[in-house]
Amino acid sequence: MLTTLKRIVQEVNQIPGLENALERLVFLVKETMQVDACALYLADYKAQELVLKATEGFDKQAINTVKIGFNEGLIGLVGQREEPLNIENAQIHPRFKHFPEVKEESFFAFIGTPIIHQRKVLGVISMQQKSIRRFSEDEEAFLVTLATQIGLEIANAEMLGNNNSADDFSSVSQKTINGIPGSSGLALGIGVVQNVKYELSQIMVNKTDDPDEQIASYRHAVELTRAQVTHLSDGLSNTIPDDVKSIFQLYHQLLDANSLGREVEQKIREGWSAASALKLVVELYATRFKNMDDAYMQERAVDIVDLSNRILANILGASNATSAIDIAKDLKQGTILVAKEVTASMLAEFQHLNLQAIVSIQGSNNSHAAILARAMGVPAVMGLGTIPLSLLDGKELFVDGYSGQVVVSPEPQVKSEYQQLIDEEEALYRRIESESDAASVSQDNCEMTLLVNAGLSAEVEVTQYEQGAGVGLYRTEIPFMLRERFPSEQEQFELYRGLLSSCPNKEITMRTLDVGGDKPLPYFPIVEDNPFLGWRGIRMTLDHPDIFLVQVRAMLRASIGLTNLHILLPMISTLSEIDDAKRLIKQAFLEVKEEAIKRGEMLSKPAIGVMLEVPAVIFQLDQLAKRVDFFSVGTNDLTQYLLAVDRNNARVAGLYSSYHPSVLQALYHIIKTSERCNIPVTVCGELAGDPNGAVILMAMGYRKLSMNAHSLRKINWVIRNLVLSEIESLLPSILSCDSPSDVKSLVDSHLEAKGLGGLVRAGS
Ligand code: PEP
Ligand code: MG
Repeated sequence: MLTTLKRIVQEVNQIPGLENALERLVFLVKETMQVDACALYLADYKAQELVLKATEGFDKQAINTVKIGFNEGLIGLVGQREEPLNIENAQIHPRFKHFPEVKEESFFAFIGTPIIHQRKVLGVISMQQKSIRRFSEDEEAFLVTLATQIGLEIANAEMLGNNNSADDFSSVSQKTINGIPGSSGLALGIGVVQNVKYELSQIMVNKTDDPDEQIASYRHAVELTRAQVTHLSDGLSNTIPDDVKSIFQLYHQLLDANSLGREVEQKIREGWSAASALKLVVELYATRFKNMDDAYMQERAVDIVDLSNRILANILGASNATSAIDIAKDLKQGTILVAKEVTASMLAEFQHLNLQAIVSIQGSNNSHAAILARAMGVPAVMGLGTIPLSLLDGKELFVDGYSGQVVVSPEPQVKSEYQQLIDEEEALYRRIESESDAASVSQDNCEMTLLVNAGLSAEVEVTQYEQGAGVGLYRTEIPFMLRERFPSEQEQFELYRGLLSSCPNKEITMRTLDVGGDKPLPYFPIVEDNPFLGWRGIRMTLDHPDIFLVQVRAMLRASIGLTNLHILLPMISTLSEIDDAKRLIKQAFLEVKEEAIKRGEMLSKPAIGVMLEVPAVIFQLDQLAKRVDFFSVGTNDLTQYLLAVDRNNARVAGLYSSYHPSVLQALYHIIKTSERCNIPVTVCGELAGDPNGAVILMAMGYRKLSMNAHSLRKINWVIRNLVLSEIESLLPSILSCDSPSDVKSLVDSHLEAKGLGGLVRAGS
């Protein structure tokens, strides 16, 4: 059954245009299951109806005309109850409703199942038989499994408005895509897809008006590919085994004009663009190969796709990526970086290209890419799901980092409205900016210490260290991620020295290497099933004292003659990790001190602290406090681990919230215990730089918050306009809320009432 299902889903997925695909789907289901009819209905929520979109066995005239209310008939019942319905004789069922257009008088057995995606019923698929019988368990299981597999495709096609015609994507009509807010702010610009790896699976098919030009482009791409393949095989010819050689021969055969080429050119003459024609032909071939019984032939499917991806790259070529930048220049617009997963190095590169916003197809609100975007004050939308990158490349985009929406090709009227919103936001932000130097003291004289989170994008932030009372968190991993090997002790020394000596009178908290999770090192791959629960942070560095000692030595050497170094240990979950890390720090300290003394220099002992980000340590705070000099609360990971929600997974992003009452209870416990133990505590997670979050933390008693430099000005503004005692009296209500949304609305309405609502929104 699984093979049949896979074959159907694969074949249907390759068909351009939702309606064509559904038509093929019902045909294949009817044939495979040997039933008398199969029908598929899609939900129209505005009209509260299920509309017949495809059928095989019933009258096709009824397509798009038969519309069944959710409270009507058996199809409506399946949609309403959100579960399968298997009935021997539909005609005597109390909910049976006759639709004469369908011509189903002679059908009795009925089985229907809802098509659901993310809790929403998108439609219903049914099979019917002329006899009176109950569908078997196998048949029911087949239909249910099929429905789960097609849900995502239907959801995507509907979201992109591709439910009518095959070439809908080539049009420039406005489309709205929903993602997750990653960094707030609004921006208009041209989407530039970065590091695009051209893959047929990513191509949305479209039509062309100029087949001759497309054929020429295809032939040119084939010639380029032929040269590349020859170059590759020549270069390897002495070293590769025969079976690999035979793959290159196959490549050459496929590139022959009489092979793939003929069919591709035929499709182009039918009106498809070169890339689309290649996709349509190749995917059909690949499916045929995959379905062959011979394992060798199945493997060849991979080769065909690989070769075709090379041809595709030559059709679209690097010229495509540069052309998007050119479009932006021509239109005098900024660029919007679009990537499957935005990385720190991409951002570094794009800073010089008038970067306006970021769109990351993968990732979520607390991925490091989003944190980085917030640090740079650049709006970002994350987790757009399975959107093809090509849909956004070179297109005008409006990015709404508040709601997580991306509008592709906004219409002129809509665009000028967006532009107005952007102007208003800029005006508000200038207001905040103009007072950013004033001290962070509330209306009722509570003084807050605001520190900067740094390190994520070393270049950008250098100028921002002067802000705030120091650096509350320097993420040392980013310089490691931007290189092709571990940085040497000397390289690290220079980096750390620059930071420590640029603000000798301010505390600088450097966190030891925290790689793993979603921060991989390209040259030190860690492959794990659950990276966030795996070899991350201190766990990795304690297993590699070589890496840890080099880093700590570099930090200590950089602090010679200074007194501002604080060392922070990430991902601590047991006390022994602190003991082990302290032992290594002591060893490095003694070595560096000896070297310093020889040169007549002074080395001061650094303060040592731990990140509170793994829930286990919250219950050992007393023991922890005896071992270290300070705590720093990492609310990003604390939230992830307390709620068991991957901070990087778009699918569960709705469950990730630092306003969750349990997270707030944990934070309250931490500050109360720290006060009792008399140990300084800072919050350095993203909650500290969020206006509502900062206000809640202040009410709990936190007085040191560390955040990105961009949020610092805004939080400063909020603090200076706030009466702390009022929020303190609100704290019991906040702590007894049932849900994160209740917490948010309670604090929102308080700030709104105090006239801080609009300002909180600006750049928040
Ligand atoms: C945190 O977990 O809150 C934190 C500040 O560290 P990072 O985001 O780098 O994991
Ligand atoms: Mg963390």
